Amino acid sequence: MKTIGLIGGMSWESSAEYYRMINEEVNRRLGGLHSARSLMWSMDFAEIEHCQHQNQWSALTQKMCQAAQNLQRGGAEGIVICTNTMHRMADAVAQSVSIPLLHIADATARKIQAQGIRKVGLLGTAFTMEQDFYKRRLTDQFDLEVYIPDGTDRQTVHHIIYTELVKGIIRDSSRQQYRQIMQRLVEKGAEAIILGCTEIMLLVSEQDSCVPVFDTTRIHALSAVDWALENQ
Ligand code: GLU
Repeated sequence: MKTIGLIGGMSWESSAEYYRMINEEVNRRLGGLHSARSLMWSMDFAEIEHCQHQNQWSALTQKMCQAAQNLQRGGAEGIVICTNTMHRMADAVAQSVSIPLLHIADATARKIQAQGIRKVGLLGTAFTMEQDFYKRRLTDQFDLEVYIPDGTDRQTVHHIIYTELVKGIIRDSSRQQYRQIMQRLVEKGAEAIILGCTEIMLLVSEQDSCVPVFDTTRIHALSAVDWALENQ
């Protein structure tokens, strides 16, 4: 079994989900008392959130590369960034180490393609929905057509992530808002919804949508297990 290096803490609410899912899946596959070999570098999310909203992306890139290097030095054999947003600097992180980076959008897009779906709605932070790094990868490398919510809906999705979900606050009223926003994406033409922020799975699931939902947290965690156990 290979050792998974997790860059977490963004937020720790979703990192805890990664940790649980990865260990449960390794145990499900190997049985007995088996669990995953892993290391986690967990960030102080206050610092990350501050830099994100101040547009300090090069400082963030440095922090992320350092984290990956620390994990490699500690014995990690592959890197998993436990957030969609911070894949903005995935290429720089991958180049800063000599072990593979398991990209969250690639794992998700492969699952979507496997179901023959092409048109997807994307929910995530404003950075993920509005900037190009995530959408472009889905369109250019996987030929997906990506729909994002309209302006006010994007603000709502972003606000709920940063004021509630990263703090583990789950409100029915917010779930209701997400349901309506997902429905509007379906009306635009989305055949499925990507939960493109690793905390959104704490709020909504398949039951809240009339089209299939792709939970990036679960997909990414399970793809890390596939990688850790390949050739096993
Ligand atoms: N975990 C979130 C994501 O998947 C948002 C927190 C962050 O900015 O990293 O994008």
